[in-house]
Amino acid sequence: MEQDLMQKIVSLCKRRGFIFQSSEIYGGLASTWDYGPLGAELKKNLKEAWWSSNVYDRGDIEGLDASILMHPATWKASGHVAGFTDTLVDCRKCKKRYKAENTDGKKCPECGGELTEARQFNLMLKTHLGSVENESNLIYMRPETAQGIFVNFQNVATAMRRKIPFGIAQIGKAFRNEITTGNFTFRSREFEQMEIEYFVKPGTEDEWYKKWIDERFNWYIKFGIKKENLRKREHAKDEVAHYAKACTDIEYQFPFGWSELEGIANRTDFDLKQHMELSSKDMQYFDDEAKERYVPYVIEPSGGIDRSILAFLVDSYREEQVRGEKRVSLSIHSSLAPIKAAVLPLLKKKPEITKLAKEITADLRGSIKVVYDDTASIGRLYRRQDEIGTPFCITVDVDTLTDKKVTVRDRDTMRQERIEITNLKEYLSRKLT
Ligand code: ATP
Repeated sequence: MEQDLMQKIVSLCKRRGFIFQSSEIYGGLASTWDYGPLGAELKKNLKEAWWSSNVYDRGDIEGLDASILMHPATWKASGHVAGFTDTLVDCRKCKKRYKAENTDGKKCPECGGELTEARQFNLMLKTHLGSVENESNLIYMRPETAQGIFVNFQNVATAMRRKIPFGIAQIGKAFRNEITTGNFTFRSREFEQMEIEYFVKPGTEDEWYKKWIDERFNWYIKFGIKKENLRKREHAKDEVAHYAKACTDIEYQFPFGWSELEGIANRTDFDLKQHMELSSKDMQYFDDEAKERYVPYVIEPSGGIDRSILAFLVDSYREEQVRGEKRVSLSIHSSLAPIKAAVLPLLKKKPEITKLAKEITADLRGSIKVVYDDTASIGRLYRRQDEIGTPFCITVDVDTLTDKKVTVRDRDTMRQERIEITNLKEYLSRKLT
């Protein structure tokens, strides 16, 4: 039943242009996905919501957009070259590959064939910079955006004259050669992260760690995720990554079970100290008031755009019976919805009506993402918009020609209101906040 929901989401995403399999015409490329027109809008809206909440609404965070390709020493300093690995085994018979922890170490879980010795597999994707391929120009596709922030800590602090505590936020692609994939976009090999490194004075990190857990938990609720589908899970001591002192995951109850949406880690001064050592550049901060010099501690809220999108889709998916018919809707937060309003003429055959409806659409364009559709009956047109989460449908009918009013229908309540055309923009902008 729950897995059934996942299939419905995958099918809706494909059918309505949210998410397609990458390189589909060639049979696809495993665990890579393309966002279609509606998915691209949703993704852009989600990034804007995150960026606004963190970079604009607070006064203590700066934005950054660092490159994907970084000096290879970065990944030595961060510990990824040595430690970002999975232990793998291969089946000698069917050639399937597994994480060793998912097998008994002897027999293939699927065909019963003999397994190879376990070996370490680095999750970083490699490439070569320049025209020759050799060890000296080997570089990595970043497996996290965080390191781009750490190496720029002094640049940002100096350029923006920042005092601690302050943070640096970044959204960008990351790549991991994941072994276990599946569950649609949940675990992809190319994905996007939204990360903040928040630099604090040593000794204050526990307090900031708690604040950030609550802040990030509440952000998902603010944008519409049901509280009962979210939980915080603190890592056990043996589970915490090598660079961190503590970590709490915000988990979402996906149809395939509770899984991580975002992790909030206390990364201590590990990364800055490591970069200080390998680069021989000073990563200390000078506190003017206290006249002391120190390497800041870091609290890191690190979330995934793709996993969030999946959670927002799953959480907002609704099926109900309306007058004997099944209605599917996405009751997604209006600021995330790909299309904000659809203008629909009630009678396609009357040119005065379609003309006016097109004029209204043109007038709304520029202020909101709006579409015009006259290719089906009104019931069908409503259903199309409900399914993609459009908050408002605006219908133009015969009366509109004389009373200059349109009917505005709310996606969630299906309630309808007559609104003066001249007040429509103001009405929508008030409702869409
Ligand atoms: P997991 O345990 O699920 O592999 P992780 O703990 O390795 O995740 P982090 O390194 O903490 O993940 O990365 C931070 C965030 O980046 C995750 O919370 C997740 O939202 C996102 N993320 C990480 N790996 C992937 C992936 N392969 N596909 C999609 N999103 C990912």
